[in-house]
Amino acid sequence: MNQNNDSDYDFKVPVEIEIYERKIYDLKQLIEISKGLNSTLEYNILIDSILLTCMGHMQLIRAGIFLKKGIDHDVFVFHRNYKGFDLDHTIEYELEPDSEIVKLLEDTTRCYTLEELIDMVGNDPSLETMKIIDPTLVVPLKGKGKLNGIILLGDRINGEEFKEWEKEYLLNIASLAGIAIQNAYLYEMATTDMMTKLKIHHFFQAALVEERERAGRIGTPLSLIMMDIDHFKVFNDEYGHTCGDMVLVKVARVIQESVRQLDIPARYGGEEFAIILPNTELREATMVAKRIRQSVEESVVVCSGKNLSVTISIGVTQYDKNRDIDNKTLVERADKALYISKAEGRNRVSLLE
Ligand code: GH3
Ligand code: MG
Ligand code: MG
Repeated sequence: MNQNNDSDYDFKVPVEIEIYERKIYDLKQLIEISKGLNSTLEYNILIDSILLTCMGHMQLIRAGIFLKKGIDHDVFVFHRNYKGFDLDHTIEYELEPDSEIVKLLEDTTRCYTLEELIDMVGNDPSLETMKIIDPTLVVPLKGKGKLNGIILLGDRINGEEFKEWEKEYLLNIASLAGIAIQNAYLYEMATTDMMTKLKIHHFFQAALVEERERAGRIGTPLSLIMMDIDHFKVFNDEYGHTCGDMVLVKVARVIQESVRQLDIPARYGGEEFAIILPNTELREATMVAKRIRQSVEESVVVCSGKNLSVTISIGVTQYDKNRDIDNKTLVERADKALYISKAEGRNRVSLLE
């Protein structure tokens, strides 16, 4: 008789059970990854989350991703949030939509090593870009069957090659990431004004509610700038709507380039713009406004062979927790300040406490 109780359980786990246990574990992990990837629509956070997920699950020291440059671009650009790759920051690494690599990844849904790509693609120029970045594995990212990104992974920490089931697992992560990217992209499309690439009015109102709430809760300052192009009706009448549109795009670009990452510039209406400035006092916001006013005045748009420029009038105010219980009073005060600028001769900045 066997005295050792342990031996009662001394049977070997069948291979099939081990495989199923591994699959259940992998699926649970994928659910967690899916939750993580779908918890944000913000591009930069999403990209970090995709890359760190791949790095963590596959034990990698390098990961990066090619994504479409912008809403109306087809070129893939290597996103600046890449990890571990030793690349020149001043260069944009791009893949053309009609390049052999992009076509191959569009047509097939599998991972490729760099060597496999070299074999498949020959001497397409896109391969040179790939060779510079020098990934170990390339994983296509798809949303609704269309290629919307390309993940590039570096070596494993343990130096091992990717096994077949790991490549399969990466394709699963990529398909979740592809959907998340697609959602973020649609959100970007739905909230961005196509002409100026600034946020639309509705987004502005929603963002202002959020920022007011945050400022009230944490006690940080919050400022608002409203802007309006001067005599724009006359400008349109004189130079036509096409030149008018070009000026609008230019003014929007000046505004975008004059603000910080956390500021929220928006196209408020036709030729009216607004900027929400979180964590900003009235004085500081006024300085930003003055800089924008001057930059717009100095900007020139060449249209129909003419050098054209416009000026803008600006109103600035600061959120006041006690007075501004909704967006309306805050916006009205900034608008009033803007009206003062108009009344006093335009092309100036006014503020109201
Ligand atoms: P003010 O200095 O008082 O602001 O004068 P204004 O002529 O700019 O103001 P008004 O509100 O009378 O006219 C705004 C003009 O902006 C009229 C409209 O044709 C023009 N506008 C609005 N949206 C667009 C647009 O998308 N493209 C072009 N080209 N013009 C636009
Ligand atoms: Mg107006
Ligand atoms: Mg105007």
